[in-house]
Amino acid sequence: MIRRMLTFCTIAIALAAGLPAPAWAVDATRTPGSASYTVNLTSNASGTTWTGHESVSFTNLSADPLTEVYLRLWDNYHGSCPSTPITVTNVTGGTAGSLTVACTALKITLPAPLAQGQNGSVGFDLSIVVPSGADRFGHDGAYNFIGNALPVLAVRDGAGWHLDPYTNNGESFYQLASDYRVTLDHPSSLLVPATGTSVDTPGGSGRTITTATASHVREFAWGAGAFTKTTGTTTTGVTVNVYRVSGISAASATSMMNTAKNSLVAHAGRFGAYPYGEVDVVLDNNFWFGGMEYPGFVLDLVSSTALAHELAHQWWYGIVGDDEYNTPWLDESFADYATDLYQGISGTNCWNSVSWQSSAEKISNSMAYWDAHSSRYGTVVYTYGKCALHDLRRLIGTTAMQTLLHDYAASHWYGISTVADFKAAAQAATTVDLSSFWTTHRI
Ligand SMILES: [Zn+2]
Repeated sequence: MIRRMLTFCTIAIALAAGLPAPAWAVDATRTPGSASYTVNLTSNASGTTWTGHESVSFTNLSADPLTEVYLRLWDNYHGSCPSTPITVTNVTGGTAGSLTVACTALKITLPAPLAQGQNGSVGFDLSIVVPSGADRFGHDGAYNFIGNALPVLAVRDGAGWHLDPYTNNGESFYQLASDYRVTLDHPSSLLVPATGTSVDTPGGSGRTITTATASHVREFAWGAGAFTKTTGTTTTGVTVNVYRVSGISAASATSMMNTAKNSLVAHAGRFGAYPYGEVDVVLDNNFWFGGMEYPGFVLDLVSSTALAHELAHQWWYGIVGDDEYNTPWLDESFADYATDLYQGISGTNCWNSVSWQSSAEKISNSMAYWDAHSSRYGTVVYTYGKCALHDLRRLIGTTAMQTLLHDYAASHWYGISTVADFKAAAQAATTVDLSSFWTTHRI
């Protein structure tokens, strides 16, 4: 709100003085916002295909008219464009263009531009075919993991529309907090862990309808399979469900349940109470990654470090959002730093062993850079990134750092943060001039 008002005042002054509006006088408000997704899907017997309908209503929050929206069909990365696993047809509420950005973006031109505060809605038939693979979108034998499969609205901000490519080295997902109501009609033999909180009702013969609802989340993911499920509750009242594939023991599930409960409580104590009520942890030791974060839903190996990291993402990426393609540091370094704090690792001297590969290598680089230097992504963004945060704590003091992260989370709760926002918050938390800190730490 403040940013928009300032922009308006500046334009008015420029016009009154007979000057052209400055080039930067683009409304930087992120839009479309206040999105509400309604999805109804029915699976086949194995949970590998899902068909049905999705609709999304939204509001143009920007002073600039909204003439179109873009859907991101992220999982079309997993196909071979134009043969894709995500199919959108019979679009209503606008006119669909053709798929672009390797079949991951679909422009829908609205029937008339939406002025600020006006609402729109688009709907479409949706088909999802889960490919083989122990992946964030894939099936490991009879177990399905279905992340990023629901088409989501792209964001327009001061830089224009964000239509970045999918990256398999990290995440490209830049989404505003939204509401979801998803009904999943599936065989009763399949359990369906999902984002949000779920209620099961009887469906047709041998089938169950799971209705999952979630508020203020950036995306929606689910799984489907004959998982074994255990349930617990944290000391702060958050429900934790651990789902495991057949190869994982009950003892491993118990250990991971304890890690989930303890790390959720620890993170909440530092960054603010977990607001979503429930977390589903899905365990499979065949994933090619250590863990993968979604709102209220994580995929994980049996690894307490990976689980503490993914649950820290509930705050850093989930509650406090960021442009994951352009500033992966803002979620990955913070999740790793939170994991260190949870594990009592102080990062003493960790910055001393930092060795840069080139002058272009920076903690705050985008995924475009890391996709071209993928062997350095983990080292720089995760390890150097968390070491920088340890260093910042040593520089400004432990109490100031705790207050900084807690208040920074509170001021961006369900919003989006930028590197500039974090730098400003950090500077406001200390009398130490941080200019040389950011330079030295390449942020
Ligand atoms: Zn991460």
